[in-house]
Amino acid sequence: MGRSEALFQEAVQRMPGGVNSPVRAYQSVGLTPRFIARADAQQIFDVDGVAYTDYVGSWGPMILGHNHPTVRQAVMEAVQNGLSFGAATENEVKMAQLVCEMVPSVEMVRMVNSGTEAVMSAVRAARGYTHRDKVIKFAGCYHGHSDAMLVKAGSGVMTAGVPDSAGVPAACAADTLTARYNHLEGVQQLFEQNKDQIAAVVIEPVAANMGVVEPQEGFLQGLRALCDQYGAVLIFDEVITGFRLAPGGAQEYYGVRADLVTFGKIIGAGMPVGAYGGRREIMQMIAPVGSVYQAGTLSGNPVAMAAGLAQLGLLREHPEIYQRVNLLGARLRDGLRLALPECTVNGVGSLVCLFFTDQPVHDYESAKTSDTKRFAAYFKWMLAHGIYLAPSQFEAIFLSYAHTQADVDQFLSLAAQAPNGR
Ligand SMILES: *Cc1c(COP(=O)(O)O)cnc(C)c1O
Repeated sequence: MGRSEALFQEAVQRMPGGVNSPVRAYQSVGLTPRFIARADAQQIFDVDGVAYTDYVGSWGPMILGHNHPTVRQAVMEAVQNGLSFGAATENEVKMAQLVCEMVPSVEMVRMVNSGTEAVMSAVRAARGYTHRDKVIKFAGCYHGHSDAMLVKAGSGVMTAGVPDSAGVPAACAADTLTARYNHLEGVQQLFEQNKDQIAAVVIEPVAANMGVVEPQEGFLQGLRALCDQYGAVLIFDEVITGFRLAPGGAQEYYGVRADLVTFGKIIGAGMPVGAYGGRREIMQMIAPVGSVYQAGTLSGNPVAMAAGLAQLGLLREHPEIYQRVNLLGARLRDGLRLALPECTVNGVGSLVCLFFTDQPVHDYESAKTSDTKRFAAYFKWMLAHGIYLAPSQFEAIFLSYAHTQADVDQFLSLAAQAPNGR
């Protein structure tokens, strides 16, 4: 038995499922998780000393690769000055200025500690601003684990919210309406049926939590127009796409402006950070200037700000980073389409997803046509050959600036040989 297996046996005694976040469990692929000792550039090393090429990147933050020397240096310097003050610091001002400079439509920003918190707070701000309660989200989109967001489509676009998790009171989910991704008419219907009641439409501008699903031509523009028509706030949840598709995220990439934008993952460079920002008029609703309360003891933490500022600074100064990661993404997508013509390959920029289905995937229903048994067989094969993937069909492959063409080509040749699991 390896050290990972031994640690897992102990872990399950004292931690639910042996993990601190359910996505880390290997339940759906029938294995036990690798316990990680360290990571560097595009490589991750488990406690048995096995090296893997990492395509998880801590679920998104590590766009520069692991243990980037500039980020590490910034963190080490910040640590020397104390871990937390619970008071205003210069780096928070720099961070706010940098985010506003990089991201279209963001005029003011509030730092928080996770993507969950960012979305929860942005929804509260939108409700406070509009004096309305209902929110439209899309089936298959993940916005963190706050009560109101743990809702998916039950029986189609007309169904009012039914909680997706035990412990979420029905009342907390009742104001969450669910629409089909890439289906504007469904959204329009919800607006018509709930006149003057919709506070916000919240969406992942590229869905990356049902596998990767791109917005079809005109979809995001259509949401913008509907929100304008019905007086609702458009919230882009850019926890994954922010600072990844482009310096200004999906808003820049697709040329569509949201009213509020949420961030996480890349903005903290691996530290626990989230943020939400947007139009000044809405952000002025937030305490202490406005009546929408939202707070955080560790928000804007000095070590976290140092890490995030270092990473965002590099991303802003070096546009070639985007050229390169997006090219690697295209190479991987093209290669997978050639190698596995019976599969569907989605993705944008440095996000890639291999669906084990021959159906086109454009929403949650079509994503679910994937053969998860075949995914599990592929996952096991890739892991055994040194490729570290997210242990679920419904997650993205994340490329970083540390990956090389040779890494992508190795991935392709292994994927082509993987057993088909039938
Ligand atoms: C990861 C994620 C979240 C939640 O962020 P946490 O930091 O895990 O709370 C929210 N929205 C999207 C789109 C995400 O991918």
